[in-house]
Amino acid sequence: MNRVVVVGSANLDLGVGVRQLPRPGETVLGSDVVASPGGKGANQAVAARRLGADAVLVAALGGDRFGADLRVALAGEGLPPDHVVTYDDCATGIALIVVDADGENTIVVSSGANARLDAAALAGLPDLLGSADLLVLQLEIPLDTCLAAARHARRAGARVLLNAAPLPPAGAPALAELLREVDVLVVNEGEAAELGGDATALRHRGPAACVITLGARGAVSADATGTRTHRPFRVDAVDTTGAGDTFCGALAAALAEGAELDEAVRRGCAAGALATTRMGAQSAMPMAAELDSFLV
Ligand code: ADP
Repeated sequence: MNRVVVVGSANLDLGVGVRQLPRPGETVLGSDVVASPGGKGANQAVAARRLGADAVLVAALGGDRFGADLRVALAGEGLPPDHVVTYDDCATGIALIVVDADGENTIVVSSGANARLDAAALAGLPDLLGSADLLVLQLEIPLDTCLAAARHARRAGARVLLNAAPLPPAGAPALAELLREVDVLVVNEGEAAELGGDATALRHRGPAACVITLGARGAVSADATGTRTHRPFRVDAVDTTGAGDTFCGALAAALAEGAELDEAVRRGCAAGALATTRMGAQSAMPMAAELDSFLV
């Protein structure tokens, strides 16, 4: 049994390239727009699924054509559509991504239906979690929904992995409460700094294990047995979009299969590195066979 239940966001990413990011009030011409499926929840579910987990995504789409397109894309990845709700009176979540010639970007996320995914939408979750090893959460849906989902997981005996991104404004009381329900916390360097601690200090906020991803420098982890650094895999990176989501999906898939934290982080680092060698988020995520041969 290696079921991973992801409760999180699904967005359509609309990406456009520009020579220079526009200043306030400025209009610049850009490249053709590239539309691709995204959202941290969907991305991590796709990564876990491609790496062999029996992944299920609980998410919300709007009643527009973007939502219909995303539904087809998710089904194409083998994610069962039954737990993806459509709110007809909502827009689908959209991320507007502008990237300049140096790879610097600005991103505006319009949450749409993701903001509507409330605790009431989790009616089917206890059943799903009954046969699950791991619940995976990020913070692109309401914090209260994450908290309710984590508590369902606790009751069902499933572990909770939280990728605490994007972070809410400092001091959100619900985040402190959520951290106390988390078994494995994953953040990147910037998020760790904002949360104000290294992996060991963050464990004191609740999670039994904490992983901090360090981009091209790999990752550090801490659990009850101590702190470890995980070397990066050297690759020719062309686009780091989605590296963190690929890392989380791979980590989740490995943990659900029974791997120890160290081995799961190693697979996460390798999968994240592979994802940077191709353009895009979901389109760059490796399959299990590619990851396995990369690791030998
Ligand atoms: P995020 O996208 O959330 O900021 P990171 O940039 O830390 O996350 O990337 C997640 C993981 O992906 C890293 O821990 C690392 O293992 C891998 N990774 C990211 N960028 C590179 C890179 N340029 N070269 C090798 N591995 C990378």
